[in-house]
Amino acid sequence: MSSLDGSLKQIEEIKAQFQSDSKISGKDLSPKAVEDLRIKFLGRKGLVTALMESLKSIPKEEKPAAGKVINELRQFVEAGLTSLKESAEANALDASLASHKLDVTLPTRSHQGSLHPVTLMRRVMLREFRKLGFTVYDGPEIDLDLYNFESLNFKDDHPARDMQDTFFVADRAATVLRTHTSNIQVHAMMHEKPPLRIVAPGRTYRCDSDITHTPMFHQIEGFVVDKNISMADMKGIVDLFLKAIFGQDLSIRLRPSFFPFVEPGAEFDLQCVSCRGQGCRICKQTGWLEIGGLGMIHPNVFEKVGLDGEEYTGFAFGFGIDRIAMLRYGLKDLRQLFEGDQQFLGQFPVHP
Ligand SMILES: [Zn+2]
Repeated sequence: MSSLDGSLKQIEEIKAQFQSDSKISGKDLSPKAVEDLRIKFLGRKGLVTALMESLKSIPKEEKPAAGKVINELRQFVEAGLTSLKESAEANALDASLASHKLDVTLPTRSHQGSLHPVTLMRRVMLREFRKLGFTVYDGPEIDLDLYNFESLNFKDDHPARDMQDTFFVADRAATVLRTHTSNIQVHAMMHEKPPLRIVAPGRTYRCDSDITHTPMFHQIEGFVVDKNISMADMKGIVDLFLKAIFGQDLSIRLRPSFFPFVEPGAEFDLQCVSCRGQGCRICKQTGWLEIGGLGMIHPNVFEKVGLDGEEYTGFAFGFGIDRIAMLRYGLKDLRQLFEGDQQFLGQFPVHP
């Protein structure tokens, strides 16, 4: 019998051995059992490894043929081990799930966990807006230019449409990550009939990153559309809302400003929450804090969404949830909100 014949016989034996060893099932099919099997066959002193070592002593002319069959054996064992390993892992997961049953009917322990300040602030805000009769709307964060810019009266050459300011979706030129939650205004006005009293909170995106800007931030946009809505209604709603959040003794003021989707437009300021109007470092000695923008909905917007601008009037306002959270909770740096520091986050309550 030649050396090759001897090897072939050995190969058949090892193969049969592996086949019988790998018939493990039930609880015995564990990742540990599979690893033991791997060591027995492919480990440093394994059966297949030893066979490969023995190639050295085989006559030169028989080496290629012997090498080929030994290699086939190794691949056979490896494939078997891979499928055993997958089964064992699934088996272990099933066992773990069966032994760690979660009882969702148990009462929660209220001292555990905390809400993220942005979530907390959003919930507080929505609660106040619901009291004022607003409905909460949600909508797409990736949206068409049509909803984010065009229907909101942004001209083609408006700087916000520039690649420097807005994230465009790579292979779809007219699709953007929304730059404000005002896109919801368009969706809602296209699908609902006035009277409308809606707030839309959510994530928004702009190519911006420094101490006071993050590429992703949270905004809340609100708007009202009905017959005979005036700027007095607008100022009244914003005033009521800010008093509910920051206290009754702070005034607001409007400063004329430009936003494409409102006319007239304004920015609104709140008396400084820290010095109450006296002037301090936080308000840069002005006594006022910039909060957001607002205005009467532009007739062009009504036209784009198919509402009669002669019959209806309305106003819209928008501001940053992160900014309000910073002021409300006295935070120093906007980035604290997005660092995920447990010590910082753990200070906030579970319930708004
Ligand atoms: Zn101040």
